[in-house]
Amino acid sequence: MTDHVTGLVCVICGSSYPAGEAGYVCPKHADVGGGNEGILDVRYDYELIGSRISRESLAASHDTTMWRYRPLMPVAADAEVPPLAVGWTPTYDSPRLAAALGIARVWVKDEGRQPTASLKDRASAMALVKARERGAEVVTTASTGNAAAALSGLAASIGQKNVIFVPESAPEAKVTQLLAYGSTVALVKGNYDAAFDLCMEAAEEFGWYNRNTGFNPYMTEGKKTAGLEILEQLGWEAPDAIFVSVGDGSIIGGVHKAMKDASALGWIDQSPRIYGVQSAGSDYMVQAFESGEDVLTKAPISAATVADSISADLPRDRIKAMAAVKETNGAYLRVSDDEILAAIPLMARGSGVFAEPAGAAAYAGLVAAVDRGLVGSGDRVVVLSTGNGLKDIASAIKAVAAAGSEPMHILPTLDSLKAALKK
Ligand SMILES: *Cc1c(COP(=O)(O)O)cnc(C)c1O
Ligand SMILES: [Zn+2]
Repeated sequence: MTDHVTGLVCVICGSSYPAGEAGYVCPKHADVGGGNEGILDVRYDYELIGSRISRESLAASHDTTMWRYRPLMPVAADAEVPPLAVGWTPTYDSPRLAAALGIARVWVKDEGRQPTASLKDRASAMALVKARERGAEVVTTASTGNAAAALSGLAASIGQKNVIFVPESAPEAKVTQLLAYGSTVALVKGNYDAAFDLCMEAAEEFGWYNRNTGFNPYMTEGKKTAGLEILEQLGWEAPDAIFVSVGDGSIIGGVHKAMKDASALGWIDQSPRIYGVQSAGSDYMVQAFESGEDVLTKAPISAATVADSISADLPRDRIKAMAAVKETNGAYLRVSDDEILAAIPLMARGSGVFAEPAGAAAYAGLVAAVDRGLVGSGDRVVVLSTGNGLKDIASAIKAVAAAGSEPMHILPTLDSLKAALKK
């Protein structure tokens, strides 16, 4: 039973649909600009939820996965969930990063430790539960790579057939993951947006369960568990700011949803400011934030960035993504690809967390925000490191080279070592 879900509400027109009857998007707005913008937001009966879960019950919980928040998620209490342990990733206090930036506290939440090594596992775990609910034979998604790997790995854990669409340019490690997990993989000649459009068509044509970001309303509900964990792991003392890298804008929307849930339940007094970070080469949201353009009508851009996970011509979840920043007094920030690459060793050395470019981008955004005075010396800040550095080793190699780091080449003798160490 999901009696705690009161309905699904269109983010454009506010129409509400009963949970059992809603499709993926609002039928009245399914085709604004052809981008399926009428995404739905899951709404809850917080009074009922508050009778089932509390900060105290969570403290006593032995569930060290995202499903510890199950009463706050759109799934039945007895729904079977995939066995891979998704969620409850550590949030590391990183005093050397805080000192380097001159701010009170910095924490890094390490999503690279998820089963398939990115935050996307949270959404894909949710997708599989919903797909099972509908008795879907095949589940599909398009992805820049990580959402695909997440769906692929979690599907493998329960033997669920799946078909994955990724752009031809996806990093090798990500594509290899898909093949190892046994997915049917389509490498699409074109970018993520092309893969997305084809996947949407195929899902419709073949009746596959559609996990696509900015279309399937439940993905936000999976991703929000990262935000809930941040709050719980900080003892429900909300940080002042959270930095999130943004491609489609689904993660940042999920983090915002967590803050709204926690506020509605009286678990926090005030939402942190949420900052969205994009590459200068894929800055649709930053452009819209700066110009005040309506994201419903703003045309796609032509995206290109080293941070493949946040490369998007048209952020699919842009309405929720803009609300996340505006409603919390945050901002959208632009960083260069060089700044993103530089952030990989900076964050690795300052916290021990090795991130892929899109994960390090959040830290690059924090550096930029401190420069611009958006974050001050008293601020307590969380950086959401969304994916593992080993996902994209080619970029990591560039990053350490740019940082001037190279190994010592030595003979297998102490003398040779001593000579090298002197240099
Ligand atoms: C998907 C992804 C992002 C961006 O998330 P969106 O929901 O597309 O904004 C950031 N970092 C990593 C590692 C990702 O895989
Ligand atoms: Zn609508």
